[in-house]
Amino acid sequence: MKQSTICVQAGWQPKNGEPRVLPIYQSTTFKYETSEEMGKLFDLEKDGYFYTRLQNPTNDCVAAKIAQLEGGVAGMLTSSGQAANYYAVFNICEAGDHVVMSSKMYGGTFNLLTVTMKKMGVECSLVDPDASVDEINAAFKDNTKCVLAETLSNPSVVVLDIEKWANAAHAHGVPLIVDNTFATPINCRPFEWGADIVTHSTTKYMDGHAMAVGGAIVDSGNFDWMAHKEKFKGLTEPDESYHGIVYAEKFGKAAYITKATSQLMRDLGSIQSPQNAFLLNIGLETLHLRVPRHCENALKVAKFLSEHDDVAWVSYPGLETDKYHDLAMKYMPNGTCGVMCFGLKGGREASIKMMDNLKLACIVTHVADARTCVLHPASHTHRQMTDEQLMEAGVRPDLIRLSIGIEDADDIIADLKQALECK
Ligand SMILES: *Cc1c(COP(=O)(O)O)cnc(C)c1O
Repeated sequence: MKQSTICVQAGWQPKNGEPRVLPIYQSTTFKYETSEEMGKLFDLEKDGYFYTRLQNPTNDCVAAKIAQLEGGVAGMLTSSGQAANYYAVFNICEAGDHVVMSSKMYGGTFNLLTVTMKKMGVECSLVDPDASVDEINAAFKDNTKCVLAETLSNPSVVVLDIEKWANAAHAHGVPLIVDNTFATPINCRPFEWGADIVTHSTTKYMDGHAMAVGGAIVDSGNFDWMAHKEKFKGLTEPDESYHGIVYAEKFGKAAYITKATSQLMRDLGSIQSPQNAFLLNIGLETLHLRVPRHCENALKVAKFLSEHDDVAWVSYPGLETDKYHDLAMKYMPNGTCGVMCFGLKGGREASIKMMDNLKLACIVTHVADARTCVLHPASHTHRQMTDEQLMEAGVRPDLIRLSIGIEDADDIIADLKQALECK
C-alpha cells in the first residue's frame, strides 16, 4: 500500500459485523475463561490483552499504522514524545552506558539526556550534526550504546545527514535512533537511509490538531542485537523478571519493542490513553493531505520573509539558498515541514513587537498543527538563559519559531506583512 492508503486504511481491520471505525477500548482489563489462559499471557507465551498499561487494542492498531507508515516491523505508543525518546534510549542503555547525541535537538530531549538521564548514570556526548565523519567517530566510547538525532531539528530545522550518522553508528556496533517528528513518514522514512529505530512526538503533525499529547517508537527490525551480544545484554541474555526469556531469541525482529513494552511500560507506565490514541488515529487519516499543504504554505511564507527588508535571516531548508537545501533535496525531495525560524534586523525587541502585532498567527507553546503559530524561544522555552548561553545552544536571541498551518498562504503572509509594518 502507498502512504496515503496506509494513513486511511491501516491499523484497524474490522471483521464481519464489527464497527467500521476503530473503537476506543475504554477498559483497563480483559476477561479470560481460565486462570491458566491468563497465566500464559503473563509468561509472554501467548499474545493477548490483560491490562491496558501493557497493551490495549486501540493503541495497538494506531501503533501498527505508524509502524507501517515508517516501514518498520513493530511499534508502540507512549504517553508523550518525551516518554518515547526516554524509552527508546533506556531500552538499550543503563547506568554506566554512554549515548552520542546530535547537539541540535528539541530542548526537552536535550534536558532528558544531559540532565535527567545523567542523574541515572547514562552519559551523553554532543556532536554537531554537520560534523565530519572523523569528528563523529571520535565521540564514541567503549560503553556507547546508541546514537540519537532528529531528522529535522526543533527549532533550528537542521537537516540530518542520516546516511552519514547511520554509518558512524553501525561502524561502532550500535543503532541509530532518529526522532522523525518534524519530517513525518510522509516526507522522510529514516529506515530507508539506515536508521534503526524511529521515535515521534505524535503531539505534532501526526495528531495535527493540537488535541492530544502522545508519542510513538517504531523498530525497523534491522539491527542485529545478537551480532553485538556483549553490548546489549538486556536483549541477548535471559530476563529474570520474565522467567529467563531472551528477547532477541524468542521475538526475533520484534525483540526491541517487546522488551520496551514488557519491561519499561510495565515498570514505568507511560501508556497513551486509548481515548488519545483514537484522536491520534483521526489525525493520521489526513496526515498525507495536511503535510504537503504545510510545506507548500511554508515555502511561500519563507520566500516572502526572505525578501522582506526588515528580515535579517530565515532558516528553512525548502529555500534554495538555505544551507541545508541540498540535504533536504536528498532526504525529503517532496518537502520538509511547516516550521521555520527567522530573525528581524531590529533584533530581540523588534522580534517580540512583531509577534505581538500578529492577528491570525497565535503565540502558543506548540508547533506543527493546523493553525499557524509562533514562539520566541528566548522569551519562552529558553527564558532562563542569558544571550550568551542562547547562542551556545544554537538559539539566537532574535529567533522566532514560526509554524505554518494549513490556512490559505495569502492570509498568513498578509498577517505577517501587517505585523512587520505596524511599527
Ligand atoms: C515536541 C517534541 C518532542 C517532545 O514531545 P512531547 O509530545 O511534547 O512530549 C520530542 N521531539 C521533538 C522533535 C518534538 O518536537
